[in-house]
Amino acid sequence: MIVGRLAPSPTGAQHLGNARTFLLAWLSVRHQCGRIVLRIEDIDSPRVKPWAMQQAIDDLRWLGLDWDEGPDICGPHGPYVQTERVANYHRAIETLVAGNRVYPCTCTRNDIDSAASAPHESIDGPIYSGRCSAWQNGDALPTPGTFCWRFRSSSNPTRITDLIHGELSLDVALSLGDFPVTRKSLDAAYQLAVVSDDSDMGITEVVRGDDLLPSAFRQAELMAALGLLPPVYAHVPLVVGADGKRLAKRHGDTRLSQYREQGIKRQQIIGWAAWSAGLCEANEPIEAAELVARFDWQTVSRKQVIVNDWALSYM
Ligand code: GLU
Ligand code: ZN
Repeated sequence: MIVGRLAPSPTGAQHLGNARTFLLAWLSVRHQCGRIVLRIEDIDSPRVKPWAMQQAIDDLRWLGLDWDEGPDICGPHGPYVQTERVANYHRAIETLVAGNRVYPCTCTRNDIDSAASAPHESIDGPIYSGRCSAWQNGDALPTPGTFCWRFRSSSNPTRITDLIHGELSLDVALSLGDFPVTRKSLDAAYQLAVVSDDSDMGITEVVRGDDLLPSAFRQAELMAALGLLPPVYAHVPLVVGADGKRLAKRHGDTRLSQYREQGIKRQQIIGWAAWSAGLCEANEPIEAAELVARFDWQTVSRKQVIVNDWALSYM
């Protein structure tokens, strides 16, 4: 049984790019007659907006996407809001500490940036120097509040299966470096929360933007360290502005809530998303449900999607 998930972060409004990724995630699972879990990824506390969770749910429903488990309908793998799942994350951290897979890191952002000169930049930011990695489980801990737990990456090739990119392998220690699994408050960081939830919720297929492709290797390593089975991934190209940068406010107002208020039909958004993904020949209104039978990863476009003025004015 395929189990997929929709995992919006309520740090702001969901936009056209999110709609496209959610549509592909939903179509893939529905095409395989699988189950879909809606999970709200709200652990990024300073950036979470109080209105954004309900709005994300409204946006998804408006698009005609549905789910079998989620915060609004319950289910056997709840709670479906990350801030309510912290006990699971703490158990995972204890396992990593006991196995000496993490060490307390007292470095500041500044330490990390200044230690990482040009050759130590990864595709995904600075590579950690390893300054705090001599610590072994049993050594004294620094003062609480001054350290995060950082994961010891390995140099064994970490392999992932991606429905868009194929079989991939990466030396995480070399290419990405050690990465934090908590904040200095010792609350779980994104990588740990996702791995813990994906496993506990029985997720077998993760479809998301390709900005998270490097994180898939981190997550696969973490899963191996926790004795968990990794899902199959599909990292889909992001929607970008005419400048090639990730879709943002300056490219125009592509919030789904705004389209809804303007009286734009959801079929127009779905039609655009499906056409831009190569699932339809023309940019014409269509319902998500009408695309389920024809969905095929082989036909999904590998190219970045540029949201140009034409696409915006069409809306
Ligand atoms: N919550 C993340 C987002 O909205 C997705 C994380 C994931 O799929 O692993 O971008
Ligand atoms: Zn450190």
